[in-house]
Amino acid sequence: MKKQGFGIYFVVILLLLGLAIAVSLQGKYPSSYTISDLAQSLEIGEIKEMAIYPDEQGVTGSVVVGFTTGGRTEFFVTNVQEAETMAREAGVEVYVNSIPQENWFLTYVVPGLVVLVICVFFFVMLNNAQGGGGGGKMANFGKSRAQLVADSKITFKDVAGLQEEKEDLEEIVEFLKEPGKFTKVGARIPKGILLEGHPGTGKTLLAKAIAGEAKVPFFSISGSDFVEMFVGVGASRVRDLFTEAKKNSPCIVFIDEIDAVARKRGTGMGGGHDEREQTLNQLLVEMDGFGVNEGIIVLAATNRVDILDPAILRPGRFDRKIAVSPPDVGGREDILKVHAKNKPLAEDVDLKQIAQKTAGFTGADLENLLNESAIKAARSGREYIVDEDIKKSFIKVGIGAEKKSRLVSEKEKKITAYHEAGHAILFHVLPDVGPVYMVSIIPTGVGAGGYTMPLPEKDEMYLTKSKMMQDIMVSLGGRIAEEIIFDDVTTGASSDIKRATNTARRMVTRYGMSEKIGAINYETDDGEVFIGRDLAQTKNFSEVKSGEIDAEVKRIIDECYAKAKETILQYEKELHACAELLLEKERITKEEFEGLFETDAEE
Ligand code: ADP
Ligand code: ZN
Repeated sequence: MKKQGFGIYFVVILLLLGLAIAVSLQGKYPSSYTISDLAQSLEIGEIKEMAIYPDEQGVTGSVVVGFTTGGRTEFFVTNVQEAETMAREAGVEVYVNSIPQENWFLTYVVPGLVVLVICVFFFVMLNNAQGGGGGGKMANFGKSRAQLVADSKITFKDVAGLQEEKEDLEEIVEFLKEPGKFTKVGARIPKGILLEGHPGTGKTLLAKAIAGEAKVPFFSISGSDFVEMFVGVGASRVRDLFTEAKKNSPCIVFIDEIDAVARKRGTGMGGGHDEREQTLNQLLVEMDGFGVNEGIIVLAATNRVDILDPAILRPGRFDRKIAVSPPDVGGREDILKVHAKNKPLAEDVDLKQIAQKTAGFTGADLENLLNESAIKAARSGREYIVDEDIKKSFIKVGIGAEKKSRLVSEKEKKITAYHEAGHAILFHVLPDVGPVYMVSIIPTGVGAGGYTMPLPEKDEMYLTKSKMMQDIMVSLGGRIAEEIIFDDVTTGASSDIKRATNTARRMVTRYGMSEKIGAINYETDDGEVFIGRDLAQTKNFSEVKSGEIDAEVKRIIDECYAKAKETILQYEKELHACAELLLEKERITKEEFEGLFETDAEE
């Protein structure tokens, strides 16, 4: 789009230039009068006076003759001397202008200036078109394209929810306010922080709020701005950005969509990739280049940490990661409150209820919802928003295919809650797995209705058989809970079942953990676990054997299933309590979850 626009401007400039040259050439010698016409005119005495304008060399030039009739004409001569002699011989008065010296100014500099002015004009227009919107005090940097907000009015108060994230970022604010305090004691403050989360969860907002809290300038640029043009442009933009930032330190540099530049290197060929690599290299050079406490904090946002080049995550670069998660019920209510501040609401609008109905909505979605409602209210000529406006906007905001899948019905929510509670309880009570770090039923947008997160596993050298069995039990826990409570199962557990099956199969074919099969490896070298068809291909073992393996896998799964079900039934009270808490809060922490068990012990 932008490249095309540029091309059009270029063509327009060329056309204008051509037109100017054509006009100037044409205007110079308007008549077809020649030197032989002059001889004739002199002979019949129709010439009153004559002026000669020699060119720079003094040989050629133009001649203006004035006729006795009052008319005049100008023409070109190849020898001004000859014209002058002819006129003097005929007794006509001749004025000879001095040979011009400074004429290059008119012939070269003036058109050049005109073109320059035109170019600048278009460039400014182009830049304005791109830099528009957003409000605030912004200055465009023609080169780096970064936007500078000198005094961000946004503070942490404008960021609803995200309590943990804000606490994590508090020290950055303090550092920016008073870098000296930290340097004195030799504390090292991270240079780069990666904000990870879905679009619209408030990453940009957080970065702006840090700048606003610390009252420092805020530079923002999108990763895609670096890579849209020609080779080398991105790298030079990065350089300009950091030069500008250093002049304004302490300050915040915010790079949105960093994955556009910082994708893993060497994953492709061709110009585009070269350009991206150059840009990324320059970014790394710049980040390594400024000192630890120079007062520049680079915040970058992405929702794809997995595709980032590991080089940017190294110490001294983006060595701190902060996950910005979609809001839970309480968070959503707070966000609604923030955005409803200057929107008058009718009595029948219940923000709490809206929050409950919008599981999976991001902050941006909620802002959008209220904005749509305000538009609807205004269009109906009302000065306040009624519940009906919100209900209608709901359909509009939630209509996108992607977002529709995020709208969860009460029933689905309940199923997910019990499913996750089933996983969580087994994590908690089985000895070799867990503990549970967080349980959530906020849709993640990638098919999963929720998740149960254990603390990161210790690096254990060996997996034991009992640990593997417990892993399988945990995986099955979700489905078992569904079965116990609803007497029915859903398709939601398919990835759980896959994981359980894979573990069980590995136990049999790789680790020799089945007595019946024995300590024999039945696995391909590339680590793929055999399944029916593959067996036939590699002919490592017979059909009969593969049947036995399948039977063993089934036996392990069945055994785990039975044990897991028994365990969950033992803790049925906690299962209900956990599911209810999840339905209320959508996301519960380790402490909240463990609290469910403690109250039980006290009784
Ligand atoms: P991201 O950078 O993560 O894509 P943004 O920070 O640009 O998301 O958020 C877009 C808009 O959504 C914000 O301008 C704000 O209006 C709204 N928003 C998002 N999260 C929050 C929040 N936690 N509190 C208040 N508003 C929010
Ligand atoms: Zn599950």
